[in-house]
Amino acid sequence: MDLGGERSRRVVVIGGGVSGSLIAKSLQFHSDLTLIDQKEYFEIPWASLRAMVEPSFGERSVINHRDYLTNGRVVTSGAIDITETEVLTAEGRLIVYDYLVIATGHTESLPKTRTERLNQYQAESEMISSARSILIIGGGPTGVELAGEIAVDFPDKNLTLVHNGSRLLEFIGPKASNKTLNWLTSKKVEVKLEQSIGQDDISDGGKTYVTSGGETVTADCHFLCTGKPVGSMWLRGTLLKNNLDNQGRLMVDENLRVKGHQNIFAIGDITDIPEIKQGYLAQKHALVAAKNLKLLMEGEKESKLVTYQPRSVKAIVSLGRRDAVAQLPFTTVIGSVPGMIKSRDLFVGKTRKKLGLEPHTIYD
Ligand SMILES: Cc1cc2nc3c(=O)[nH]c(=O)nc-3n(C[C@H](O)[C@H](O)[C@H](O)COP(=O)(O)OP(=O)(O)OC[C@H]3O[C@@H](n4cnc5c(N)ncnc54)[C@H](O)[C@@H]3O)c2cc1C
Repeated sequence: MDLGGERSRRVVVIGGGVSGSLIAKSLQFHSDLTLIDQKEYFEIPWASLRAMVEPSFGERSVINHRDYLTNGRVVTSGAIDITETEVLTAEGRLIVYDYLVIATGHTESLPKTRTERLNQYQAESEMISSARSILIIGGGPTGVELAGEIAVDFPDKNLTLVHNGSRLLEFIGPKASNKTLNWLTSKKVEVKLEQSIGQDDISDGGKTYVTSGGETVTADCHFLCTGKPVGSMWLRGTLLKNNLDNQGRLMVDENLRVKGHQNIFAIGDITDIPEIKQGYLAQKHALVAAKNLKLLMEGEKESKLVTYQPRSVKAIVSLGRRDAVAQLPFTTVIGSVPGMIKSRDLFVGKTRKKLGLEPHTIYD
């Protein structure tokens, strides 16, 4: 690594999700920046369930990287390997770096272009509106938020949620789980806990699903809302293979650098930081790492680097357009008060503003 002059300012960010997009935007005028992402756009994940019932919502939440990244390169490809100085993409490109940021969060198979993604929302919304009965598999935040959206917008649908755990929303406290269960039940959602539906029990042609408990669910369509794997499979054959913990997370130091690597940072859900995996925390990681990268590129001493302190549990899960359940450090609240904070705009305007975009403009 050359620490003087222009050559030491090449920053490559891998992953254009919540943290990768923000750090890329923050560094674009301070470095020679390249963002590598499998798709051409950044999508605000917590708006995706609303877009399934109201596809036009995706117009603001699915954002081409080019719209906020006006002074950097965008490479649309998966990263498949890294060396001390280069990243190799699936399409065979080698991209040289002085500093690397890994932000590959969670793996999900999504369309490559924004238009394809918006079309996907359109198709999902048509499927929901034409179905009389709908099955949701998974009672984590995604399954619960989708159930909330459908129950509120389509109160006449026959909605069933099957979850293999003993309570909904296991990532937050039991009180929040119980309140959420009561809310869903009050909206006539049938919730089946401690039961699963495996891949073999799902057939798109058939409309009958048999749970692990032997119960039969009839539904015109289903949505699989089970957890997504950590996006680190691709690192297992690379120089960082020994930096992964047993959950596949990259072990980082207090400055958010991968332990033992002075010029490689990791941020967002892929890190082993002991806190819940949330987007607003991934954004905080991005800002800390951006600050440290700027300091390093300016030639500052290591001792000047800022540190990241893990945060206590705080989460808001929306329940349709008005309500939400909030887990705060010492209490849980459900209803329209947390709903006012999140459920109307789902932080879309706020997230767009962080990327330097107009909060409310629908573009194209
Ligand atoms: C439905 C839902 C609702 C949520 N609601 C909230 C909420 O209300 N509040 C909150 O704070 N958090 C919420 N979260 C959690 C939040 O979305 C995550 O914590 C956040 O997305 C993590 O950001 P990240 O940058 O680590 O990874 P991600 O946002 O997962 O982005 C990873 C990126 O890496 C890319 N990628 C992966 N592998 C490669 C590769 N090999 N090469 C190139 N690119 C690659 C992907 O294409 C993707 O763009 C929610 C999540 C979901 C799914």
